[in-house]
Order: sequence, then structure tokens, then C-alpha cells
Amino acid sequence: MASNGTGLLVVGGGLASARAVKAYREAGGEGAVTLISADDFLPYHRPPLSKKFLRGESEAEDALVESEAFYREHDIDVVLGTRATGFRADERVVVATDGEHRFEKLLIATGASPNRLDVPGADRDEVFTLRTIDNSKAIRDAASEARHAVVVGAGFIGMEVAASLSQLELEVTLVHRGKGLFETLRARQLAQFLTELYGTKGVNLVLGDEVAEFAGRDSLDSVRTKRGEVYQAELAVVGVGVRPNTDWLDGGLRIDDGVIVNERYETGLPDVWAVGDVARFYDPLFERYRRIEHWSNANHQGTDVGKLIAGGDGGYDIVSTFFSEVFGVTFKVFGDIDEFDEIVIRGSLDDGDAIAFYLSGDRLVACLLTGQDDDTEAKLKELIAARATVSDLEALVRGDDLESVFAR
Ligand SMILES: Cc1cc2nc3c(=O)[nH]c(=O)nc-3n(C[C@H](O)[C@H](O)[C@H](O)COP(=O)(O)OP(=O)(O)OC[C@H]3O[C@@H](n4cnc5c(N)ncnc54)[C@H](O)[C@@H]3O)c2cc1C
Repeated sequence: MASNGTGLLVVGGGLASARAVKAYREAGGEGAVTLISADDFLPYHRPPLSKKFLRGESEAEDALVESEAFYREHDIDVVLGTRATGFRADERVVVATDGEHRFEKLLIATGASPNRLDVPGADRDEVFTLRTIDNSKAIRDAASEARHAVVVGAGFIGMEVAASLSQLELEVTLVHRGKGLFETLRARQLAQFLTELYGTKGVNLVLGDEVAEFAGRDSLDSVRTKRGEVYQAELAVVGVGVRPNTDWLDGGLRIDDGVIVNERYETGLPDVWAVGDVARFYDPLFERYRRIEHWSNANHQGTDVGKLIAGGDGGYDIVSTFFSEVFGVTFKVFGDIDEFDEIVIRGSLDDGDAIAFYLSGDRLVACLLTGQDDDTEAKLKELIAARATVSDLEALVRGDDLESVFAR
């Protein structure tokens, strides 16, 4: 049933929303809180869906952000299986599949949806994208019946799914139209390291080629590429990026690959905020708008906006971070890797102990790291936040104390 309440309405039932309603209540936010979600599950963490959960090593309940009791005890009305379809800003109304929801304050946290490929056979039952628990379960089920899989895309979803399916002992082919793995990180050494790692694990890497058709008579049996190669596959997973879920929005919001917000997540319309994967926010550290499709971002922004909506302090003032895990190797990225001039590496990826420093001129703008302790991680974030500049490149590579090779 649609809500007539005039309190806080949260549209979207992902991590950002769950964090927001919790922080809102903790900061003293009162009145009605309604959360509507197109999902059929309470808000859950998505990272396990391409890792442990996909491999059958954890259950759906383990991924829940909060238990059902939490929402009940905090008087948060969660409306599942309900999609927002329209927005009338001046009337303060969100139109949803169950009717109209009035609001006093609105948080937009509808996340993002996976892109699909526009090639013959892309709509076959055995060709999956991965965003929800149901997607992950369906891939897991299909994997139990399959011997060969093709994974499309070498971003973090494609890389993680290829690793997990290979760990489930399928013969996996990874098709990527670019030239290297994890290209968005633009770290040649990492791409080389991953190429070797995936090779050792038996994943067939097909780079510089694209899917032309998902083929088969009754069900999928192969994937044909533009170069004319054919790879066996009873299962395919497409991980070729996501687009922000803004299709239900219009009417006065600034939308440009996401809902544009300032560093306090304000959209410009009174009492309307946006956070998480759907938002393009102003990052004061790098002095530009960014849309970040990662867990830590939804985690932080959700909590921060909850406090702000309740009338507390907040605003984006952290160094952005994200992580990925493939074949048991965890990488973390701190800062902004979009604009830099050179990468300097200390340590060795092969030894599981390395930091890649992304430098813009001599300013440290980002780091990619594996195998570092908490103190080192904290120091790296501090240096990025302080806009530190490198004073001695050789000493940086050699491994001298971080404080001594950077000036703040
Ligand atoms: C398989 C997978 C693995 C991942 N692994 C990692 C990782 O290892 N590291 C990392 O940093 N990040 C990872 N991520 C990314 C991370 O999970 C996302 O950044 C995070 O989930 C974003 O949270 P969100 O709340 O902004 O959006 P979402 O989690 O996308 O939630 C959006 C919610 O809005 C709902 N919704 C959408 N449209 C509507 C509508 N019109 N009306 C109502 N509800 C709607 C959706 O059903 C959903 O409940 C992964 C993502 C996936 C899919």
C-alpha cells in the first residue's frame, strides 16, 4: 500500500539506503520513515554475490545489512517488490508500482543496473548479468549443470565471476574487447600480474575481441566472437558496466550519468538528496564531480546523508576507497585514479606486498595496494587527503618511510 506519511521516504533498498535509515534514527531523526525497494529482499551487501555466495560458501542471510528486527525496532516501514516509476517534485510525490508516496524529505538511492549486450542470443536464459541475489543464485544453479562458461568483460565483476566460476571447476573463457585486465585501473604491472595469475589458474583469456553471438539450438552451447572464434559455453555472464537507475526521475533534477549532488548530497531541490551508485557527487579533495560504483562509497555516503537529513553534521570529506578480491588476492584502491601522469611501484605483486602510487605531477592522487597493514593503509589515505607531493622518487621505490618521501 502506498504511504501517505509525510516523513522521510527512501527510494532504493541497497546498502546506501540501509545505512541512511540507521544513521537517521541514530542521529535523532523522528517521524515516519518509509523505504521502498524494487528488490524482493531486505537490503544486502552485493560483494559476496560474485565471490563467496556465488561459490556456495555463504548464505543469503549472511549478506543482509540489517536483520528484519532492526527495521521493526526502529520503526522503518520497508516496502519490498515496489518500483518507483515517477516523481512530481513540486507536489512532493513519488509514484510507484503500488501507488503514490508523499514525502517531506526524499532520499534517492536507486543504485545502478547492469548493461546488456546488443547481439543475437543476448536474451537467452543462460546469458546472465549479475546485480541481485536472484541473479547470483541463478548463475550458481546454472554453473552446477555446466562445464564451460564464457564471462564477458574484464572489469571487477567479470574478473571476480571468472575467478569464482573457475574455482567451481568450470572451464572459463574471459572475453574482453580491451587489451588488458582491469583496464580502468590503468596499471600495466597489475594487468600483467593478473594475466599470469588467470593463466596459471587455467582461465582462457581472450583480449581485443568482442562477442558477436550467443549461439545454440535449444540452449546456449557456444559464444562466437567478432574475430570468428567459437568458445564452448553452457553459461555466460556479461559484466560490461552499469548505468545509474535514474529512468524514473525527471522534473527539476540535474541528471548527467547520475543525479548531480553537492558534497552534502543535496540535489538542488529542497529536501531531496541522492547517494551511492546513482549519485554524481562533488568530491572537494579532487575538485570535481564523481560517480563511484563501490561498496565503501555507498557505505559512507549512506551513513553521512542519514545524519545530514536528521539535521546533524556531515558532508563528503574522505578519501574514496574500493576493493576487489580474485583467487584469494585482495586489492584496494584509495583516491582518484582517473587523472594522473605516472605510476610508481614499490614492492612486488607476485610476493603479495605492493603499493602502486598514482602521481599527478608530483602530487599523490591515488594508491593501489595489496598486502598492507592497517597503519600503512591509514598513512596512505592521510597523504592523499593532505595532497602530499613526492620529494624523492628513488626513495619512494626503495621503500623508505612514507613520511620522509612525501611533503605535505
Ligand atoms: C556482484 C557485485 C559484486 C560487487 N563487489 C564489490 C566489491 O568487491 N567491492 C566494491 O567496492 N564494490 C563492489 N560492488 C559494488 C557495490 O555493491 C555497490 O557499489 C553498492 O551496492 C551500491 O549501493 P547502492 O545502495 O548505491 O545501490 P544498490 O546496491 O544498487 O541498491 C539500489 C537499490 O535500489 C533499488 N531500485 C532500483 N531502481 C528502483 C526503483 N525505480 N524503485 C525502487 N527501488 C529501486 C534496487 O532494487 C536496489 O535495492 C559489487 C556489486 C555487485 C553487483
